[in-house]
Order: sequence, then C-alpha cells, then structure tokens
Amino acid sequence: MNVNQQPHMASPYGQPQPGYQGYPQSGYGGQHVPGGYPAPYAPYNGPASAYQPGPPQGMRGPPTSGAPPVSAAQAYSQFGQGDIQNGPPPLGAPPQRPPVSQPYSQGAMNLSGPQPPYNQQFGAPPTSMQQMTTQMASMQVGSTVPSPAGPGYAPPTVSQPSVSAAYTPSAPSSFAPTSTVPTQPPSTEGTPQPYYGAPPQQPFPTAAPPFSAPGPTQPPGPPLASQQTFPQAPPPSQPPFSSAPPQVPPASYGGIQGPPLASQGPPMSQANHVAPPQPGMLAGPPVPGMAGPPPQPGMQGYPPQQNGAFGQVRGPQPGYAGPYPGQQSYGAAPPAQAPAPPAPKRLDPDSIPSPIQVIEDDKANKGSEPFVTGVRGQAPPLVTTNFHVKDQGNASPRFIRCTAYNIPCTSDMAKQSQVPLAAVIKPLATLPPDENSPYIVDHGESGPIRCNRCKAYMCPYMQFIEGGRRFQCGFCSCVTEVPPHYFQHLDHTGKRVDCYDRPELSLGSYEFLATVDYCKNNKIPQPPAFIFLIDVSYNAVKNGMVRIVCQELKTLLDYLPRENPDVQSNIRVGFATYNKVLHFYNVKASLAQPQMMVVSDVADMFVPLLDGFLVNVSESRVVIESLLDQIPDMFADTRETETVFGPVIQAGLEALKAADCAGKLFVFHTSLPIAEAPGKLKNREDKKLVGTDKEKSLFQPQVSFYANLAKECVAQGCCVDLFLFPNQYVDVATLGVVPTSTGGSVYKYTYFQAQSDQERFLNDLRKDIQKKVGFDAVMRVRTSTGIRATDFFGSFYMSNTTDVELAGLDCDKTVTVEFRHDDKLSEETGALMQCAVLYTSCSGQRRLRIHNMAVNCCAQLADLYRNCETDTIINFFAKYAYRCVLNNPTKNVRDSLVNQCAQILACYRKNCASPSSAGQLILPECMKLLPVYLNCVLKSDVLHPGADVSLDDRAYLRQLVSAMDVAESHVFFYPRLLPVHKLDVECDTLPVAIRDSEERLSKGGIYLLETGLNLFLWVGANAQQELLQNIFGTPAFGQIDSNMTSLPILDNPYSKRVREIVESFRAQRSRYMKLMVVKQEDKLELIFKHFLVEDKNNSGGASYVDFLCHMHKEIRQLLS
Ligand SMILES: [Zn+2]
Repeated sequence: MNVNQQPHMASPYGQPQPGYQGYPQSGYGGQHVPGGYPAPYAPYNGPASAYQPGPPQGMRGPPTSGAPPVSAAQAYSQFGQGDIQNGPPPLGAPPQRPPVSQPYSQGAMNLSGPQPPYNQQFGAPPTSMQQMTTQMASMQVGSTVPSPAGPGYAPPTVSQPSVSAAYTPSAPSSFAPTSTVPTQPPSTEGTPQPYYGAPPQQPFPTAAPPFSAPGPTQPPGPPLASQQTFPQAPPPSQPPFSSAPPQVPPASYGGIQGPPLASQGPPMSQANHVAPPQPGMLAGPPVPGMAGPPPQPGMQGYPPQQNGAFGQVRGPQPGYAGPYPGQQSYGAAPPAQAPAPPAPKRLDPDSIPSPIQVIEDDKANKGSEPFVTGVRGQAPPLVTTNFHVKDQGNASPRFIRCTAYNIPCTSDMAKQSQVPLAAVIKPLATLPPDENSPYIVDHGESGPIRCNRCKAYMCPYMQFIEGGRRFQCGFCSCVTEVPPHYFQHLDHTGKRVDCYDRPELSLGSYEFLATVDYCKNNKIPQPPAFIFLIDVSYNAVKNGMVRIVCQELKTLLDYLPRENPDVQSNIRVGFATYNKVLHFYNVKASLAQPQMMVVSDVADMFVPLLDGFLVNVSESRVVIESLLDQIPDMFADTRETETVFGPVIQAGLEALKAADCAGKLFVFHTSLPIAEAPGKLKNREDKKLVGTDKEKSLFQPQVSFYANLAKECVAQGCCVDLFLFPNQYVDVATLGVVPTSTGGSVYKYTYFQAQSDQERFLNDLRKDIQKKVGFDAVMRVRTSTGIRATDFFGSFYMSNTTDVELAGLDCDKTVTVEFRHDDKLSEETGALMQCAVLYTSCSGQRRLRIHNMAVNCCAQLADLYRNCETDTIINFFAKYAYRCVLNNPTKNVRDSLVNQCAQILACYRKNCASPSSAGQLILPECMKLLPVYLNCVLKSDVLHPGADVSLDDRAYLRQLVSAMDVAESHVFFYPRLLPVHKLDVECDTLPVAIRDSEERLSKGGIYLLETGLNLFLWVGANAQQELLQNIFGTPAFGQIDSNMTSLPILDNPYSKRVREIVESFRAQRSRYMKLMVVKQEDKLELIFKHFLVEDKNNSGGASYVDFLCHMHKEIRQLLS
C-alpha cells in the first residue's frame, strides 16, 4: 500500500483536521484571507482540472506525496499585494490605443471636447423615436381558437434553447427619425400602476382598465350564502370533499359527499374522491376559520361583479373563448341579471380540494417537529410550512426538493405514470439563523477524497470495507483505496469510528476546500470584481435613475459581500457610464479627481485604462465618492436618447479579462439599443403574432450576438445583472440572454418614476449587491446506477451535456434537473444523487459545495403517488412549459401539459384507486392540488396572456420563473391572500389565508395579497371605520389614498402589526414587493382580480371549478 507522507495533513487518527473538528462554518473561510491569500493549499502539479470526469492524470488512487510545495503566492503575485487596485496584468493586455485621459471637475465639464480619437457624442441631438410609433400597433390578442387537445411538440433538447438564438437577420434600420423631442416618460398619475411592468393606461386608446373587457357592470350577485341550496349534510367539522385517508390526520378529511366511499378502503387509502357535479350534492360547509366569507352584515348582495367572477352564478361572458369549450359547465349558468338560483350542474367550490386546507393541514401535521433528513424516501413539509431541519445525511429541502421521493424502479413504470422525476436544487440557499450553514472540510493538499471511477465526492453513501482501508462507491460500486491520511478504524457495525466527527461522512450538505487543481488554469483565483455600468442617456437621466443609482452606490459599496463581517470585502469595483459611447473612469486612490476616458468606437470594444479602473473601495473611497457625485450633473443636460448594449457588456467583460478575475456586471439600462453597434436591435414587437404559430419567435432572441457574448462571459466567470427602466419595448427576450446564461438576474421597472418606484428598485439593488454569491461555478449532478440527469433548467450555460456552468451563482438561484432511467433500480438500494458545485467564494476562495440526496425506489405505483410533492411538480412543469414556448405554439404547450397531468391522474385511478363509478374524480392525496395549480400555470401570462400583457413582460416572467425555487413558484402561481381584518394583534400568528377567489372576499374585509412580485392591500367598501382608522389613519373609505405605496406609521397595535406583516412578507422574497392599495370597485381592482386565480379570468383562463371538470373529462377519456 502506498505510504503517503504529507506532514501537514490531518492525522488519520482523529486528530484535529483543519476544517472538520468543531465544524467551522463558512464564515470562517475569511480567516484564510486576511493578509492576502496565504493559500491553504499549495499548488499541485496535478491535472488541469480534477473536476473533469476522468481521474487526474497519473493521480489515480491516493495522492502521492505530492509535488514539492511551491509558494502559493506565485499564482497571483503578478498583482503586487499593495497594488491590487491595478487590476490588469501587463501580459495579455488589450491593444493599447491612445487613451484620452481627461481629468474632470465640476463646472469644467466639456466632455464633447476636442479629443480626436474619441468622438464624444452625448450632446448630439436625439434621432431616434421610432419605437414609440410602432409599439402599440395592435392590441388584439388571441382568444385561442379551440382545437382538440393533444401533444404536439417535441421534447426540448438538452441544449439551452434560450441561448440557441434563431438568428433573425436584423435588417438595416428602416426607422426614420420621427421626432426630435426626447422621449417623455408618460405620467402615470391617476392611472393604474403596472403590477409588474405592464404598461399603464396611456398607450391604450380608451380609458379601459388594464384588464380590459370588463363587461357591463352587473347588478348585485346572489348572497354568498347561496350554498344553502346544497343540502348541508356533513357535520361542521367535516371537510369539503370526500376522502377517507386513515393515514392523514383525522382532522383533515373524512367528509363524504356523493356516493358513499368511506367503506371502500381504497388501496391507497389516501384517495380524494370528488363527486361530479350533481344536484343535491352534499357540500361541506366552509371549514371554520378557513375559506368561506364570514357571515357578516354587509356581505350580502356583494355589488357589481365583473363577468363571471362569482362562483355561484356565472354570467354569460361575451366573447369568452375558453380553452376548453364544450365543457358543460362553461357559461352554462343563468345570467346574473338577478339573484338566480345556482346552476344545477355547478360544482360547489367548497367541495373540491382546497389549497388552503392542504397548506394548513401540513402546518398542523409537520410544522411542530423538526424535519430529520435521515429517513430515505420521506417527503419534507410543504414550502408553506415553517419547520426546522436536522441534517442527518440527506440535503435539507432548502437545498433540494424532489418531485417524487419514491421513484419507480423501471422506466416503464415511470412512463406509465408520467410523473416527472426531477430535483429543484438551490445550491447556495440561505438557511434560517437556527440552522447551520454547511461546514467546510479541508482534506489538505490532495484535495477531497473521491471515487476513482465516477469521481463522486466522499459522502455518507460510501461504504467502508476491509477494516476501513477501502471504500465502495454508492454511486458506481467501484472500490477505492482510502488514502492513508484519511484512514480510520470501523466499529462493529462497519461504520468509521469518526463518522460523526466528519461532515462528509454524516451530513447531507457540506463544503470542501478545493485545491489549485480545481482552479481555472491551475491558478488560485483573484478576488472577484463588481463593475457598475450606468446608462446616462436622456431617459435614464430624466426619470431619475442615474441620480438614484449614484447616490445609493456611495452607501452600498460598504456592503459588498464578504464572508467574515469583520473583514473588508475583497471585491474590487469599477465604474463606467454610456449612451451611444462608453465612458470609463479612473478612480485610482492617488488621483485627486476621477478621470474619464471616452470610447466612441463601440464596434471593437476595449478598456482604455488598465490602471485605476478596478479599485479597492476603501483605498479609493474619496475618488469614488467624487465620481458618483459628479456623474448625475455631468449628464444632466444630455439630449442623447440612443444607447448601445452589446458593447457595454463587452466592456465589462474585457475589464474582467484584463484583471484576470471573475465578477459581476451591474447594468442599469433604459432603452432598446438601436445605436449603431454590435448587438444593435430593432423593434420587432408585434402583438398580432400572439396566439399564432409564430408567437414563439417573440420569445427567441432576435440576434445571435448575445448568445455568443454570453458564452464568452461564462468562460471568464462574468455574471451580468440587468436592471431595466423601460418606457417602451426593449426586447427583454434578447437583452435577457446574457443575464440568464450567466446566472444573473433581470429586474424590470417599467415607467420608472423616482417617487413611486425608487423604494422597490433600491431594495432590489441592495439585496442584489449584498447577497451571497459564488463565481465561476460549475455544477455536476452524479447519480447512482440506473438513473441519470438528462435535462437542466435555470439561468446557466452548458457547453456539454453534464456540466452546468454558472458565471455567477447566488443564494436565490435554482437549477432544476430532470432524471431518466437508464436501467432498473432496486428497492433495496434506492437511488442516490450528489450535486457538486465548484465555485469561487466572494473572498476568492475556491470551494466545492456538496449536496447529497437519497430517495426510495418503488415497485408499486401507489408508493410513487404517496410520496411526491405537487409544489415541486408544478415548479418543474412551469419551467418545462416556459422553455417549450421558445419552440412551440403556446396552445400546444398548454394542451400538452393538460394531457400529461390527465395521464398522471388516470394512471393513479387505474392502478391505485379502488373501483368506483366513472363519474367520480379520484385524486391521490399528495396530488389533489395538481389540477388547481396546473390551471394557474396554464392561465399565467406567459402561456395565456391577457391583451394588456406586454411581450416584454412575458419574456421577463419566462426568464424569472426558470430559476425560481419551489416556495417562490408556489406563491407566484397561487398567491397568498390574507384576511387582515381577522388579525389578532395580541398574538404573533397570522390569520389563516383564504382561497384566491372573489367569492371569498367580504365587502367588510381588508385583504393582503402576495404574489412574490407584488403586494396588494384590498379594502372592502364596507370595511369597519375603526379598522380603516387604525390602518390608514382615516375612517372614511373614500379618503383612502390608493396611490400610497407604504402604509402610514400610526401609533396603534393594528397599524404596527399590519406593517410588520408587510415587511415580513417582503423579507421572505428575493425581490422587493411594492405595495398597492386597491379599493373595492376602484379601477386598480382589475389588476388585483387577475391574481384571484381560482376564478375565470378576462383572457379566457378557466376557473378552478371548470378546469377540474375539464380535467375529469380528460381522465375519463383516457380510461375509457
Ligand atoms: Zn463511483
């Protein structure tokens, strides 16, 4: 056996090993840093990258005694320790052109000065106003022509569609200047605010509210208590729909309606039997405190309704083209001209599975006990439940959530069930304060211990054999020698005696310090850099963005990410501004004033200064502050309206290349980049294409330039975050290509106005700059024999079929991985997955984060249906569908989703449920919300837009959802609706949410609705005066200012508590939610109602009840 002597390494016999004894946490990584990288790992003349699938060349097995330690400093010594602000090394520097360096000072700014090589042009008269004239050419939107449902599109390829630009040759601009007046941001005063950027009213020819087609106002609907027409049979505590699940807590269901079922004892015993609509059907009363509107005075005769919004009575909806015509229940209800008796065929909403009931049951059943990850195959609590996690060998659900925790043993079973097998992975997720972040393990010079064959990292699934001298890989079964320094004896059960001292042997998640082998070019990475690129064209100055950004950055630079709060951030910063040309700033500490250099040759971008562009904040603080003070004034009088975009990213990329580091670009941009430059775009917005087979082209980038640029960015570890402030179409589908391929984010503030929007923007910016982020990341998911990762979804780039490359990876980003069988799986061993993310921390340390997950394998379909997670399935379906729209008509995508879900449920009915009449809809307990949530995805603006949803909004949402975690997608598709008037200010608990349906709203109530992107406070017209006084400071409904974006701070417990809730909701989301106050019957109410997703919507989206009937029909067709 190979005797290995590595004096510095951990003793094989349990002596303290750096990094595992006492489990230092990631914060400690900073300890390595002070004083400039006394690299914890010496260079090691090993393989180019041990991350490659193959074993290190010549290094198979235990590490040799290693190359003689070489000074680790050598890798980065080219940047003098004391001179780190001078980023770029002399070698490989871009061609030098005569940079025009122009010290500027306030008052003496003549930037269009006589510098021959740099034609400063921002003072030129504006020439482009083209987009304005074409953008609203047509507002007609497809009410899709119904056609038979059916799959009709090919599965997506593994390659990243969002990057594979279908190149549309961009014709030479045919725009003629139509105006010399710069764009004026339209006033939005007195008009509905965009809820996530939907254009406000102005562009619309009429004064119709944003969600158009509000039919004639209806007279008061029927009393909400109209359920009385359905005989109430079950005792009050009975649930609204029938099921007899002995395994479910007794309190949950048990109510029976329709045919007797309780005695059936279905094999699954968890089925949810929902009776078909039939007269006289039993409907459980609303669960107390749950759904139904409280019987309070003032509720009856809830006045003017929008068409079809009320559950019990559906007025005929003119022009309504539902996606599922032919449904009996569609529009079959009598007109709501007068309080009419309920339609006999109508399914009572209280009798169908309630999301709120499921959420509350899960909280009650799983919220009190810690979730222990050691039990294989166990589904975690729902994302809506607060719970504590104990890592006992599998990754916490905060890092990995699976669609199924029992996966079928064979691919035939998997195909039969159609349940997607996928994991939603959030590798750098932030954990609550009472849970430990992953411990950092240092295996010393030889790096992490890995399987010789599949290269899986040491983890609890490795089985030690031969007295501890070798271990067998849980993934590929290969046997590998234990390196001598890692040897440990086994106890009588075969476990290493140090098992619980080592995170990598006992925990699901941990980190390894990576050696230089894991570094690009075998060099210890430089600390990353942040570069701020600010649009200073007319619109950017006019709407206040430039001033706000510059002002905020002065403070924010003190909060750059760092691992140890006591140590200054290592991140260097740089600044540039642009319109048609780029302005770089030298902010070297030794300068008295910042210097500007202008590059007007945007066709071939380069960085004109190598010294002083990237600097250390604390050293250059005075110069930086001076710069940020001056920028808004320098461009205050600009008339330049045209911008470039491609060269801006190129500039940032070149600067990072020159400094030989990874980093992040923060681009603050306003308009379609129509100026002559690489990546120039044209306005191709064409709403006539919506609903046609050509609709997909609107989601595809219009030029391939950005996909190529993204590839270059990824190679450099250059992540791009884009903050958009558009007043018109900017082609988010194209501008978003680089951010979404580099692990970056896109933020969008349509019709940005400083007064009403800066709070949201600044909070987003602060969060974005400060959040935990890794750079130059590569993620690989290994699986045990029998399954493999076949498809990936998220904001990243892939140059092969296995490695997910992320120029940047922050704590909010998820990568979704789909698995397929390539062999039979065994019930005994289960299936294992290991996600390894190699990244550079914000302090410049190279690390590997490992997440392990074991799930059960099942030979019975019933086990699959018993252990799956609908929220995660929906997250996967949404991402899958949103990617499919790139290449398929949206109608086909919707039909295919419906079909797949019908197959999932039909398979259950056929194989797992007890025989029952065909008229019954039977849903598996774990999937009883699949129909309601799926309907929300189908109705979403990406798949089924209303006429007023802009193409940019759809592209934006499509990109956003692709990297969402399960908690965010859940609230995004099924918003949280909280009855604020039921708040008990004496206690900390929140009132139980209600279902997203207008019929659940009480006119006397006040409700808070959260979507993850928006917050609405809906105020009923009859809300108690005292309540109004307490929250708004006025007792009069009429005096509530619906333009307010924050609640007044009043000295009463109610005000305090409501504001606390608003803040706590905001704190839970990665993006700041602006608050909108919506008064009942106010025009803003149409926007609010768009999020009442159980109701029929104005663009033809089905109500939950109707969709469930449709789903039932589909299932019956499949079964017959
Ligand atoms: Zn292996």
